[in-house]
Amino acid sequence: YLIIDKVTKKFDGTVVLNEISLAVERGELVTLLGPSGCGKSTLLRCIAGLNEVDGGRILLNDRDITNLAPRKRGVGMVFQSYALFPNMTVYENVAFGLKMQGLKGNYIAARVRDMVNLVGLSGKEKSYPRELSGGQQQRVALARSMIVEPDVLLLDEPFNALDAKIRKMLQMELKNIQKKSGMTMIFVTHDQEEALTISDRIFVINEGRVAQSGKPLEIYSQPASEFVARFIGNFN
Ligand code: ATP
Ligand code: MG
Repeated sequence: YLIIDKVTKKFDGTVVLNEISLAVERGELVTLLGPSGCGKSTLLRCIAGLNEVDGGRILLNDRDITNLAPRKRGVGMVFQSYALFPNMTVYENVAFGLKMQGLKGNYIAARVRDMVNLVGLSGKEKSYPRELSGGQQQRVALARSMIVEPDVLLLDEPFNALDAKIRKMLQMELKNIQKKSGMTMIFVTHDQEEALTISDRIFVINEGRVAQSGKPLEIYSQPASEFVARFIGNFN
C-alpha cells in the first residue's frame, strides 16, 4: 500500500537515508523506532514531500508520489509541536481542512462532531487552544489531520512534550482511534516502550536503514542483531 523503495537522502553529501526500503499495509499502524539522528524524521519528510529524495521511489495507494507536490500526495502529518491555529476554536481548527475543500457548512458540522467525538473532546468545540491542556491540544491536532482522510497519516513523536501519564493514555487512545478509523499510520518514536505498546509492526531504524522489522513481540524476543537487542532493551 505504501512502498518505500530504496530511498536515499543526503544532506551536504552526508547520507542520511541509505537506500531504505519498507512496505506498509493498508490500515496498519507501524512505528519507526530508532536512536536520535538515524533518519526517522527525514523519512517522514520525504514521504510528505517536505524533503526531496536523492534516489529511489515512494508509492502510495498505487501512485508514484516520489515527485508530487506535498498537497497532491494524500499524506497527513502530525508534529511534536501541535501548531494549532491559536486564534481559532477547536471547532474551527478541526473544520479547517474541510473548509479548504469548499464543502458545505452542515456537512462540515456533522463531520467535525464525529471527529471531535472520536478524539474524546466533545464539549470543547468552542475552546481556544490556549484553554486546553497539552494532551487535549494534541488530540485537536490529531483530529485536524484525520478529518481530511489522508491515505496515510504520519506522526512524528507527537506525544513527546507530554508527561508520562497523559502520554500513556494518548497511546492507548491513538491505537483505538486508529483501529476504529482503519487509517494507515506511521508513528515515529525513539521510545522503545511506546513502540512496543502501540504498533502492529515495528521498523527498527539504524543509520538510515531498516535494521529489523516485525511484530512487537518478535522484535522483543528475537532481536536480529546486537544493535536491535541493545536498543529494545532486551539484552541478555
Ligand atoms: P530524532 O530522534 O532526534 O528526532 P531523527 O531520527 O528524526 O532523530 P533526522 O531528523 O531524520 O533524525 O536527522 C537525521 C540526520 O540528518 C541528522 O544527522 C541530522 O543532523 C541530519 N539532517 C536532518 N535535516 C537536515 C537538514 N535540513 N540539513 C542538514 N542536515 C539535516
Ligand atoms: Mg526526529
